[in-house]
Amino acid sequence: MENLEKQKRISDKSDSKKGTGGYEETTVECPECGSRDLIRDYERAELVCDSCGLVIDEDLMDMGPEWRAFDHDQRIKRSRVGAPMTYTIHDKGLSTMIDWRNRDAYGKLISSANRAQLYRLRKWQRRIRVNNATERNLAFALSELDRMASALGLPRNVRENAAVAYRNAVNKNLIRGRSIEGVAASALYASCRQCGVPRTLDEIASVSRVSRKEIGRTYRFVSRELGLKLMPTSPIDYVPRFCSGLTLKGDVQAKAVEIIRQAQEKELTSGRGPTGVAAAAIYIASILYGEHRTQREVADIAGVTEVTIRNRYKELAEELGIDIVL
Ligand SMILES: [Zn+2]
Repeated sequence: MENLEKQKRISDKSDSKKGTGGYEETTVECPECGSRDLIRDYERAELVCDSCGLVIDEDLMDMGPEWRAFDHDQRIKRSRVGAPMTYTIHDKGLSTMIDWRNRDAYGKLISSANRAQLYRLRKWQRRIRVNNATERNLAFALSELDRMASALGLPRNVRENAAVAYRNAVNKNLIRGRSIEGVAASALYASCRQCGVPRTLDEIASVSRVSRKEIGRTYRFVSRELGLKLMPTSPIDYVPRFCSGLTLKGDVQAKAVEIIRQAQEKELTSGRGPTGVAAAAIYIASILYGEHRTQREVADIAGVTEVTIRNRYKELAEELGIDIVL
């Protein structure tokens, strides 16, 4: 992890008082995957799930619009440097606007009669601009969804479901202050879960134009606002894909599933991220079948840390009485 110095494990006793929220640090679970491996990112004052990448308390720093004018002076100053080009403005901020100043091209004040006309013009321009731009942005978002879904080889129903979620987000005005790409990617992430073909945030991020962190943050916000209730995924859901990513054969895969089932029966999986459990089970199975993959290799495919795999596999091996000879 790049930011390891800036991040501290939340379980560090020395830091337990410094927490920004009133979290019971030993019992906090990720609302998405149930993992208790949470990391506090002090730089951004965020709590991030180490297992699935979800940003849990983004309320502390909700990213608003990049640019805002609060009064006349600021408006003049900022309009001189020009508005930033951004997808969060419907038309990427590139269309010509009728000036907000009541002055003509020579800088003379415009008469009050003309000013009323100008006011009406501005009003209409705003409406037209919004409608055209909304359409165009929707088209862009849908093509983004298609591009990402086909890169991940996702079936048609997942794309359509994601498109519905995206439209709902637009209708509820949730795109404001966020990137289209970020909302589209999180709609796709949610849709995969809803359709029973979960993908990790890392996998979504690998085909997206935005970071895993931004997707995790946007997803958290959008799912809350849209009231999306997603069931935690089972570690078993991830086994086939992770195994094929590691070119492990069917018998290893079957063994990993068996290990997970036993772990679930003994309730060893609660409070554990499903991707970490899947990774650990695969790691164990690969050793048992003489197809040893390193913790690093498995961690990369599963999008978890080697530390997570180490902790999980020791737990599983011990509790299930599996002897591992390395
Ligand atoms: Zn999580």
